[in-house]
Amino acid sequence: MPEPSEILSLAKRRGFLWPAYEIYGGVAGLFDYGPLGAEMKRNIEDYWRQLYVRQEGFLEITCPLLAPKEVFEASGHLKEFTDLVVQCDACSTSFRADHLAEGLHEQPSRLSKDELCMLLNDNNVVCPECGGHLCEPATFNLMFKTAIGAGAGGRDGYMRPETAQGMFVNFNMIYRYAREKLPVGAVQIGSSMRNEISPRQGVIRLREFNMMEAELFVHPDDKSWPNFANVKDEKLKLLPDGGKDTVTVALEKAVGDGMILNETLAYFMWLTWKFLSDLGVDPDRMRFRQHARTEMAHYASDCWDCEALLGYGWVELVGVADRGCYDVSAHLDHSGADLTAFERFDSPKMLTVDRIQPDLSKLGPIFKGKARAVADKLAEVPPDSVPDDRSEIELEVDGERLKVPSECFRKVRREEKVSGRKFVPHVIEPSYGLDRILYALLDHAYGSKEDYVRLRLSGKASPVKLGVFPLVGKDGLDTLALEIHRRISSLGVACYYDDSGSIGRRYARMDEIGTPFCVTLDYDTLKDDTVTLRDRDTAEQIRVKIDRLPEIALKIQENIAFEDLRRHS
Ligand code: AMP
Repeated sequence: MPEPSEILSLAKRRGFLWPAYEIYGGVAGLFDYGPLGAEMKRNIEDYWRQLYVRQEGFLEITCPLLAPKEVFEASGHLKEFTDLVVQCDACSTSFRADHLAEGLHEQPSRLSKDELCMLLNDNNVVCPECGGHLCEPATFNLMFKTAIGAGAGGRDGYMRPETAQGMFVNFNMIYRYAREKLPVGAVQIGSSMRNEISPRQGVIRLREFNMMEAELFVHPDDKSWPNFANVKDEKLKLLPDGGKDTVTVALEKAVGDGMILNETLAYFMWLTWKFLSDLGVDPDRMRFRQHARTEMAHYASDCWDCEALLGYGWVELVGVADRGCYDVSAHLDHSGADLTAFERFDSPKMLTVDRIQPDLSKLGPIFKGKARAVADKLAEVPPDSVPDDRSEIELEVDGERLKVPSECFRKVRREEKVSGRKFVPHVIEPSYGLDRILYALLDHAYGSKEDYVRLRLSGKASPVKLGVFPLVGKDGLDTLALEIHRRISSLGVACYYDDSGSIGRRYARMDEIGTPFCVTLDYDTLKDDTVTLRDRDTAEQIRVKIDRLPEIALKIQENIAFEDLRRHS
């Protein structure tokens, strides 16, 4: 297995990943994508879009990175999105408390503040940098805080720590756009920011990173998935909570046995497996690990991490979770906006229903001329979202945010003939870390050959699909090679023209950045319109007609194997 330092060194030298702001000493947890990295990142995004947006019909949206405080008050990030930090009294370096406890406990990240404090004290842990005394662990919020606007008129804002919130707060827009039908899925690709206390491990833990997240809004009582039947016999490698070894189980059995909570969750776990393996993550070094109940967010009902075995050990690349109604309910509660879906019954039904009953005699003195509008809004609030001990409800009435005290309304239960009901959708969330996926692809593709590195990147992921070389840069071979390069580039396929150095050296340069195939034009090309096509992994060569090159170039992007090209040559 290659050392992470070897991979990062190749990535830097060949223009995949550069430590950011290096001329000013660099900043831990910030990386730039160089030309090849940017191309590869785009390939990953494009394939993800292909699966989620084109094939599964999710709606792609793009929201701002910056959000007002209310969003994260509602989501719980302001209170809960924290790590425990420990600072050295002598050199002021900060550490994550659970990192310092590694080796002292099986899972230090699950310990409470007091437990961690005791563990570090009992083991006399000192500063790993200078041996100095460490202060007690303190809670540190990982969001970057900023101000939106100037001076007293400004608002508290935060950089988003995930792209998901943009989709939750827009549920009403997404639902309306989808002509009020469930299930409906939204996706967002973009960067997120977390002020990690001690970023380490290259791009595995960044302070600004790229996510591809999908939020699937579903009916709480229907977590079946139409395409499930087509993949029910496909197998996944699972490490269930409490299990010691991975088990390989067909999706249908995993759901039937209650190992995976529902069909939809299982389907998107399979889609994740397919996505990663098609791109080139080695299935033998990949697994789904189920979160323990204590590790899961309190509202989630099932959560699986897709992990890859890298030079750093097992690393989470993707999380797939059934988040219940938590996210949408939280924003509905805080904003007062109607973030519900509506279910129409086949025929009206007599049902026992809960209602929020406004009391106009109490609303009148408080809200005066607005009392009627407040009453109407109150009547729209889904009763499920109002706990019995709630002291007030926040509502937006005619653009103004109002707090309505509990004496102004009552939750009542009564028999009614109703044509349908409002409900808060549940969310199933596949959340992908793009930078980690890109790194995993480099790690699993890395191999040495003779005295240089060869990356066995897949055709889908590789930043350059085809190298185009004239044997010599004269006698018309160069002009013809440039013409081939132009034709292939015009199809949107990344290819690379190179006429300098020996052919062997040119192949080596392409092998090192993972280019799957190269073509070389020689003097026979001028006679019979054929070129040599060379396979990166076996170094085998076949002759193919120039006319076939555009079609071949497009197929490389679909992971065509050399064997298939040979068969058709
Ligand atoms: P989370 O919301 O923490 O479950 O993160 C979702 C995905 O984002 C994870 O599966 C990781 O792949 C990725 N991720 C989370 N935090 C970081 C980070 N600090 N740097 C890079 N990737 C991250």
